[in-house]
Amino acid sequence: MPKAQETVLEIDLNALKHNFEHLKSRLHNDTMFMAVVKAFAYGSDACTIANYLQNLQADYFAVAFVHEGVQLRKAGITTPILVLHPQSANFNALIQNCLEPNLYNIKILNEFIAIASAEKLSEYPIHVKFNTGLNRLGFAENDVDAIVSKVKGTSAVKIKSVFSHLAASEDLNEKTFTLNQIEKFKAIAKNITQQIGYKPLLHLCNTSGILNYPEAHFDMVRSGIGLYGFGIPIAIGTEKDNKNLKPIGTLKTIISQIHSIEKGESIGYNRAFTADAFLRSATLPIGHADGIGRQYGKGKGYVIINNQRAYILGNVCMDMIMVDVTNIDCKEGDEVIVFGPSNTAENLSETASTISYELITAISQRVKRIFVEG
Ligand SMILES: *Cc1c(COP(=O)(O)O)cnc(C)c1O
Repeated sequence: MPKAQETVLEIDLNALKHNFEHLKSRLHNDTMFMAVVKAFAYGSDACTIANYLQNLQADYFAVAFVHEGVQLRKAGITTPILVLHPQSANFNALIQNCLEPNLYNIKILNEFIAIASAEKLSEYPIHVKFNTGLNRLGFAENDVDAIVSKVKGTSAVKIKSVFSHLAASEDLNEKTFTLNQIEKFKAIAKNITQQIGYKPLLHLCNTSGILNYPEAHFDMVRSGIGLYGFGIPIAIGTEKDNKNLKPIGTLKTIISQIHSIEKGESIGYNRAFTADAFLRSATLPIGHADGIGRQYGKGKGYVIINNQRAYILGNVCMDMIMVDVTNIDCKEGDEVIVFGPSNTAENLSETASTISYELITAISQRVKRIFVEG
């Protein structure tokens, strides 16, 4: 790899392929794979990632919002795209771009059927989501009759899939709860399938569901974080599953300047750090506007310089952080690893009591993405 000369997020497409193939190897041959590429493919770059996965024959894509799906269509994605959280204000754009809505309550189902009928659509694919315990988005079990009568009353839409989402699939201490969700989902799916008279696709598992609940893969699985290299969080899982997944992103930066700080001097805004002995600090061109939030400051987060940890001194600035390099052999211009395969985003996220999902999706769009095949 070339040494970084500015702040860059390097994305390893071979690692993405490896993760895709590993996750697929955990499925039956005929189980479909929905690649979740919402939020810029978890901060990577949705268009590049989706194009790459389309070439690898991913069966479906999922995004959260309509405009994310529109971007994928503009980038040449022809694979079906599920929009997990559409708003009725965007239904025209959704239809124009052949995006498929998740419909999760009677209000949005009615709104979609109204527009689909007005547009004289025929059997437009819709996805119906049920709440089985997450209490976030989804119809209740006893909405089935109402859904069926609405959908049977029109030829404008057809139920392509029925799905739900697990609340704690990563946590085996919650196994009883999860098994209950699975049973609820099975009962709902059976009821709606019988009443509607055809077989929609069924799907329930996210990445940790794929790994922990092979009996619940149904017709399709939805994987996001696993594609980007993280599985069961190390805080609650075992290393076993995750050693087969490779983080695809390496966030790199460089040392812009090194300062010698005398005892009693402070560093950064609000003088949040004061040296109690002589030290050397390095200033790096990455800050909270790049996705390294203030919660990583004041000695919590660290970066890697010449294989050693350099902790953040004082407050994180908008465009910079200062780190302690007193005991590290380094000079201005040297490369810095913020996170990567060996010091993972998951490790760094834990220093600020958060999770890999939040850290990687927060890397802002001003950080240049570079694609490599490592
Ligand atoms: C984001 C999301 C996923 C992907 O979950 P991962 O844990 O990243 O695999 C799957 N399903 C739904 C409904 C989601 O919102």
